[in-house]
Amino acid sequence: MARTHIVILGPPGSGKGTQASRVAREYGLAHLSTGDMLRDAVARATELGLEAETYMKRGLLVSDEIIFGLINEALDAAKNTGWIMDGFPRNLVQAEMLSKMLGERGETIDYVLDIDVDSELIVRRLSKRRVCPACKAVYNLDTIKTKVEGICDACGGALVKRPDDEEETVRRRLAVYKEQTAPVIDFFRSRGGLVTVDGAGDIEEIFAEIRRVMK
Ligand code: AMP
Repeated sequence: MARTHIVILGPPGSGKGTQASRVAREYGLAHLSTGDMLRDAVARATELGLEAETYMKRGLLVSDEIIFGLINEALDAAKNTGWIMDGFPRNLVQAEMLSKMLGERGETIDYVLDIDVDSELIVRRLSKRRVCPACKAVYNLDTIKTKVEGICDACGGALVKRPDDEEETVRRRLAVYKEQTAPVIDFFRSRGGLVTVDGAGDIEEIFAEIRRVMK
């Protein structure tokens, strides 16, 4: 599976980040999460981070220009390992740009996975999500509990609720997804090879389904 290229799509809270990190570990791929890259830039208070933060806080997409810079660097860094892309492309402009960037590199996408989950389930899930800012591990107060409350099992960091996981912002992010990101699913479907995975089950079931797809 070395040098495999995967795009994972799905609404915020569909579990695509969790699945992407499992897939990356299992198959030795780089996990390219534009959300994580942006949150890192915000935490380091870089110029890019400060600009992105104003959009992220409101649940809106940051500019395509910022994202292209991040993706370009990430594709260079991951050229020998392969990758799974999570959170990108987020609109049709980004989807076209990805095709162009890969074309220039002589690379292709092997799998496009679309994780499908109902909006109300997402709102419920995200209100319970907690993340570790230090190592990026993701937990859930109901379904992925830590051994010690509020402390990351992996690195001992203090867990936080992402500011954009507040209900009002989640609903805005879902609306942005419907309007801007759902057309990306049709973009990939029309090119063939898109596989929809039911994201309502638990993490192990969904991961097993993804492994079946990738056989
Ligand atoms: P995520 O962790 O993927 O849910 O991303 C968190 C936030 O980062 C999003 O709500 C957007 O504000 C921003 N973001 C992440 N990826 C992108 C992208 N590809 N294009 C634009 N904004 C993005």
